[in-house]
Amino acid sequence: MKALKTIGLVAHDNQKRDLVDWVDANSLTLSRHRLVCTGTTGKLVSQMFKQKHPDIDVEIILLKSGPLGGDQQLGAMISNGKVDFIVFLTDPMTMQPHDVDVKALIRMGIIYNVVMACNLTTADFVIASPLFTTDYEQKIQDYSKYITREY
Ligand code: PGA
Repeated sequence: MKALKTIGLVAHDNQKRDLVDWVDANSLTLSRHRLVCTGTTGKLVSQMFKQKHPDIDVEIILLKSGPLGGDQQLGAMISNGKVDFIVFLTDPMTMQPHDVDVKALIRMGIIYNVVMACNLTTADFVIASPLFTTDYEQKIQDYSKYITREY
């Protein structure tokens, strides 16, 4: 994991305000990294940066909206080693039509050992960590036995 990180940002509707406020509070730090967001979250994050830092060109990759495949796109990026850290604020009080995608995204984060903040406190701790600004050697579980298994 390089010092310049690719950071996934995803929030369910009731958590979007919290995520945008967190991005706002950490906007200068985050602007030095590459951001990748599900569609609607990304629109709000882009608007926030345009208003607050019109002179900074922040790299924001917009995926599809989460329930329309955006969570899966982000999961695919994780499985290809393209994402270092995700802030994923899910709504614990509302059933999501794409619940299976939510679980799949969390599962990809676990398999590929990416930094994964599922609440704001963890996100605060991660961004304040000295490891956030350095190169870091991530341990990736060895799945070769599984891949070469007999069946
Ligand atoms: P959205 O998707 O940012 O397009 O609303 C979020 C999600 O995955 O539910």
